Amino acid sequence: MSACITGEFGRNVFNEVTMRECLPKNVFKSLKKTLDGEQPLDPVTADVIANAMKDWAIAKGATHFCHWFQPMTGLTAEKHDAFISPRADGRTIMEFSGKELIRGEPDASSFPSGGLRATFEARGYTAWDCTSPVFVKEDGKNITLYIPCAFCSYTGEALDKKTPLLRSMDALSKQAMRVLRVLGNMTATRVTATMGPEQEYFLIDQAFYAKRLDLLLTGRTLFGAKPPRGQELEDHYFGSLHERVATFMNELNNELWKLGVTAKTQHNEVAPGQYELAPVFSTINVAADHNQLTMDTLQKVARRHGFVCLLHEKPFAGVNGSGKHNNWSMCTDTGLNLLDPGETPHDNMVFLVVLCAVIQAVDKYAKLLRASVANAGNEHRLGANEAPPAIVSVFLGEQLTDIFEQLAKGPAKNSKKGGQLKLGSSTLPPLAKDSTDRNRTSPFAFTGNKFEFRMVGSSQSISGPCFVLNTIVADTLCDVADVLEKADDVKAAAQKILQDIAVKHARIVYNGDNYTEEWVAEAAKRGLPNLRSTYESIHAFPTPEHVTLFSKHGVLSKEEVHARAEILFEGYSKQINIEALTMLNIAKRQILPACCEFSGKLGQTVAAVSGVGVAAEPQKKLLKKVCDLIATMESRMEALEKATAKATGVHGTEKHAQSFREDVLPAMAALRQTVDELETIVEAKLWPLPSYAEMLFVR
Ligand code: ADP
Ligand code: MG
Repeated sequence: MSACITGEFGRNVFNEVTMRECLPKNVFKSLKKTLDGEQPLDPVTADVIANAMKDWAIAKGATHFCHWFQPMTGLTAEKHDAFISPRADGRTIMEFSGKELIRGEPDASSFPSGGLRATFEARGYTAWDCTSPVFVKEDGKNITLYIPCAFCSYTGEALDKKTPLLRSMDALSKQAMRVLRVLGNMTATRVTATMGPEQEYFLIDQAFYAKRLDLLLTGRTLFGAKPPRGQELEDHYFGSLHERVATFMNELNNELWKLGVTAKTQHNEVAPGQYELAPVFSTINVAADHNQLTMDTLQKVARRHGFVCLLHEKPFAGVNGSGKHNNWSMCTDTGLNLLDPGETPHDNMVFLVVLCAVIQAVDKYAKLLRASVANAGNEHRLGANEAPPAIVSVFLGEQLTDIFEQLAKGPAKNSKKGGQLKLGSSTLPPLAKDSTDRNRTSPFAFTGNKFEFRMVGSSQSISGPCFVLNTIVADTLCDVADVLEKADDVKAAAQKILQDIAVKHARIVYNGDNYTEEWVAEAAKRGLPNLRSTYESIHAFPTPEHVTLFSKHGVLSKEEVHARAEILFEGYSKQINIEALTMLNIAKRQILPACCEFSGKLGQTVAAVSGVGVAAEPQKKLLKKVCDLIATMESRMEALEKATAKATGVHGTEKHAQSFREDVLPAMAALRQTVDELETIVEAKLWPLPSYAEMLFVR
């Protein structure tokens, strides 16, 4: 299929072209109005659409349909129903009604609800998100029609990741439109948030994975001595693709293209065994759905090639972890990118207002942004001198920083230009130079015509950080619109707003190296929050200020905010508990026996060698060292067991999470240290776990 992407692209998607072909004209028109948010779908139209979808899916071999939704686990959920409908005469026909398309009724009791639902209050609903196209997915021989859906409780509270994202899109569009209108844009009618999420991941050979209970159960290695070689040679980043990996990527792309996912960029990442995939950006809720499909397809296709794809934020200590870079902007229905600076940004009022609104939003709600990327995995990544630090700041680059500084004093008068770059060889072309360099260390960087939020974890649903970003920007745009709509002289009022923001929020702008100690100190001086742990970050989420923000814009109710915080705390505690128990299991049943065997062998050697009258000092010394480490390991296992029991006994979700953070995590780190030291001296043949060198370098 790779020969012609255009022919195959979106082959399994019921997209606009297919709809035009399959639907009667008036039905298509009516659906289009619904897609544009102008009218709800009426039942008759829904029946016709459902029927056309069914015929189209059956022609592709589908037997089932499913409502595909995104509960608070961060994963996707689906329950398949066959199209069959039995008749009285014993035959069956294939049926799919508008009602079945629009609404599903899965049991909601076993999904995380953060106390919104008791186990016995089971009813939940899924509702078709018609703005994300339905598609046919092939899993082995099973072919199913997938219907992207929102998921809510019987009482209407959002139990998923999609609902707040859709709500936040409405909020952002509403506030951005107010600003556009008052600034004189009379043509646009809607503003959509756009998103291009770059996805990082690791591939390791399936054979190693099967031998590591930690990877199997927790997604990361809980033990593993540093290999003699890591990423220090800087030879993997953008290196040539290994053939087996390239073949995997080829098949991955083909699978994604069929599903309408615009997989575009692929390359080796910084750590050995680490890679990246980036799609072309799209509407933010479609991008979120596609990112879920991408994570799913990565894992599925990896298996076919004898690999396992690791999406954990920090599968290996000592080399880079994986994240997602959420590239975000806003675009009008007339095609205007609101973050496009144009040739002369200093006199592009819409751009300046939007830019300043984003800066204000990030400064005002830095803790909330930090909380939106808080999970157990990301804790090992953020602030660990590789990924962005836990401190949120904004990179603007030379040109925009200059304009921002001009704004603090009054109207901006000029824009620095990029110019030309001459490379000193008569055969190389002169290059047009961008007006701004890049900064890879910034957590929130302006990159030409969009912002790139780099703190997101590789395993996370992007919906959380996306709806937070949409909402905080909607909020600051709302503040701006409130003032401008009342102003007699809009231009002067806008200028004043820009000046105020440039003065008040200058502290969030930082163009230097975010990985340095100096920045940590400087940020503290500036009063910027530094929420190092996941626990602290979640704690900062359900504050009265944030509850007001989300309810004002109709994104989350107070109850929904608190429920989400509960779910985050709970998820964190559960993850660490599983990690601690897995560690103890591996330590007791695999590592300790191996160490005992090794010390036994050494003991025999010492006895045999000294038995023939030769001094066995080096062997004795080694034996002593191994035995000492075994003793330390033993006591650290006991300490971890105690810490886990203590944390488990703590009442209250938040306190529970705090104890896992403060008692269990340090005990885990201590045990790991001893075990990793043992790995460096115990005979390789006896060591029960595949080594870092094998996992990272064998392909
Ligand atoms: P990088 O050089 O930062 O690694 P990539 O090319 O890997 O960049 O990814 C950049 C991402 O940004 C792509 O997914 C691209 O489609 C996306 N992008 C470009 N323009 C926009 C925009 N206006 N809104 C959202 N995302 C965008
Ligand atoms: Mg990239």
